[in-house]
Amino acid sequence: MTSIQQHKYSILKDIWGFTSFRSDQSAIIDHVLAGHDSLVVMPTGGGKSLCYQLPALMLPGLTVVVSPLIALMNDQVTALHLSGVKVAAFHSNMSRAEQVETEQRLIKGDIKLLYVSPERINAPGFTALLKSLDISLFAIDEAHCVSVWGNDFRPDYVLLNKIRDGFAHVPFIALTATADAATQNDICRQLHLNNPEVFVSSFERKNITTEARPAEQKYRQTVDFLLKAKEKSGIIYCLSRKETEKLSAKLRQTGFNCDFYHAGMDADDRKRVQKDFQDDKIQFICATIAFGMGIDKSNIRWIIHYAMPKNLEGYYQEIGRAGRDGTPAQALLFYSWGDYIMLKKFIDDSQANEEFKTVQYAKLERMWEYASANECRTNLVLNYFGEFRSEPCRHCDNCLAPPKSIDATITAQKALSAVVRCNENVGLNLLIDVLRGSYRAEVREGGYDQIRTFGAGKDISFINWKIYITQLINQGYIRIDYTDHFKLKSTPLTKEVLFEGKKVRLVDLNSTNLVVEKEKPKQKKLLLEDELMKRLKEWRSELAKQKQVPAYVIFSDKVFENVVASKPSTTADLLNVEGIGKVKMEQYGKDILAIIQGFLASQDIVKNVKGQTYIETLDLYKEGFTPAEIAKAREMSETTIYSHLAYLYTKDEPVDIFKYVSMEEVSLVQEAWNKTGQEMALAAIAERLIAPIEFHKIRLALAVIIKSSKK
Ligand code: ADP
Ligand code: ZN
Repeated sequence: MTSIQQHKYSILKDIWGFTSFRSDQSAIIDHVLAGHDSLVVMPTGGGKSLCYQLPALMLPGLTVVVSPLIALMNDQVTALHLSGVKVAAFHSNMSRAEQVETEQRLIKGDIKLLYVSPERINAPGFTALLKSLDISLFAIDEAHCVSVWGNDFRPDYVLLNKIRDGFAHVPFIALTATADAATQNDICRQLHLNNPEVFVSSFERKNITTEARPAEQKYRQTVDFLLKAKEKSGIIYCLSRKETEKLSAKLRQTGFNCDFYHAGMDADDRKRVQKDFQDDKIQFICATIAFGMGIDKSNIRWIIHYAMPKNLEGYYQEIGRAGRDGTPAQALLFYSWGDYIMLKKFIDDSQANEEFKTVQYAKLERMWEYASANECRTNLVLNYFGEFRSEPCRHCDNCLAPPKSIDATITAQKALSAVVRCNENVGLNLLIDVLRGSYRAEVREGGYDQIRTFGAGKDISFINWKIYITQLINQGYIRIDYTDHFKLKSTPLTKEVLFEGKKVRLVDLNSTNLVVEKEKPKQKKLLLEDELMKRLKEWRSELAKQKQVPAYVIFSDKVFENVVASKPSTTADLLNVEGIGKVKMEQYGKDILAIIQGFLASQDIVKNVKGQTYIETLDLYKEGFTPAEIAKAREMSETTIYSHLAYLYTKDEPVDIFKYVSMEEVSLVQEAWNKTGQEMALAAIAERLIAPIEFHKIRLALAVIIKSSKK
């Protein structure tokens, strides 16, 4: 390794605590260090910042980073500062005094990395200041803002090409997470990049598990999902403002800690909600797509789309807000035919020109294909973005639990025959009513109760029919006529099925496994680790409060997971943990090691006093499992579990014993126990009871008696 390469890796370890680079990072950094221009297109969470932050620390002069979002900028500055980097920000929200101080530090050469907002850097006085400094690198974050092709155009960005021209010999690196080929070219052109190398990383988000479900009973499904998500942060995206408010109110009543967010709220409310979410004070937000830009919360663990978004670009960007710290996250999409029709109507009713509308229809079509797909969803999206591949991703529902297909020729024949016999004059819902033999007015008025297939599909539920027919549409057996009120029409394939014996295979709805299955009682070891995690997080939020910074800029959850997994006992071990660099080690190493030692010591005490079997029961009990469930999970009798709980109660563990035995029962047992001369044998006590009480309750009652006699 050359000394430059060694230097690169030692900074990576000392400042960030990482031992290896991700995807293109290393090549990009080399390119920057060699003094060339580059454009980096990498998905959110891919690790773009390192591509300019690390060179900044290796290059002799100052690195100027242009970033449009002040909240994001502040977090980056805080995080770097905590890692021992000489860093500062410059934007219009700062006081004059702060600006002067920063200027002085710049002149003294006391800053390696300077974050600037675009309107600031373009101010005349500021350019003059920059001219007087030794600048080694410019980094332009969110570079798509320079292009009208991107979806977040900012006029201030276009002026940046003046800076490019004014600093002809300083390398530029532009970075973005959203840019198709046309936008990439436009960025290079607009910024006057000098013969740039374009680095495009895969947009696959491997840590996000994606899933799409028909929206049947979606409220109930959502509540189930939320119960399993425990306290983890998330966002529920809704289609309308009203929906965000309604859903949030309903979930709050159920006891969830949530709020809503949409563009119709006044600025203060929006700010408050965003801040509370960022600080983990609100667990999740029911929001329109207005929520998201400018949120740099790395520990968002899940995204629910409560309705189908209008295109895959939006969908992918929204789910991309989850799991930015690289640890596992979930994305769940609810979709329905109703959403599709509504979105279609939005386009119909919009003022846009026909050409634009045609593109929007096509995009909506792809979104629907995605939602109702039976094959790898990740491939579907990546192919859509022009990244062609066919390997299964293994992190979407269709890869994790491939749907089984069955011969559904008869089902298909019923549906197709009904389409034809209704003279291709009915939409999806009406067709299903005919198939299921409904006598509602529309059916009778159309005379559809007279046709031969009326009621032929009674045995299939309404929702299952919807899914089957969607599959038939996707396979080309039925067509939707968008120009004729979404009526269902036959296709050239229809008659092959009806008259030529063509077989049809559809996904067996009884076989589709939901990815998010019922949570099983966890292993004991994992529960103990939850406890250590909890202690680390408590320490972190205390520190965050003192320092008045967001908790995740101190250490990410991911780093804590690494700590929990390896439980280092020395400073050397701790330095080996991925994500702990030298500076943070020096600052916080002692605290972290003390927490681990304290935790291990408490575990030893627990073990010695109670033995392994009691801890296992206690852990499950604390997780909220009932004695019956614990018995099942541990393959023991319920009586045994009750005796564990009784014992744990006497050892002052938090067992709510009166849930299982009443005060009256306790006093009856006490009476009998006294009659035995305070003997512990259950049978002896049972014999002397004046009314029968189950053995396990006698044991619980004894625990109460013994504990109170000790006091
Ligand atoms: P982006 O700006 O592309 O959205 P970030 O630069 O914020 O992404 O990085 C996302 C996460 O990945 C951060 O938590 C960062 O610490 C982590 N990360 C970046 N590079 C590496 C690496 N080489 N090894 C481990 N983690 C990394
Ligand atoms: Zn897949």
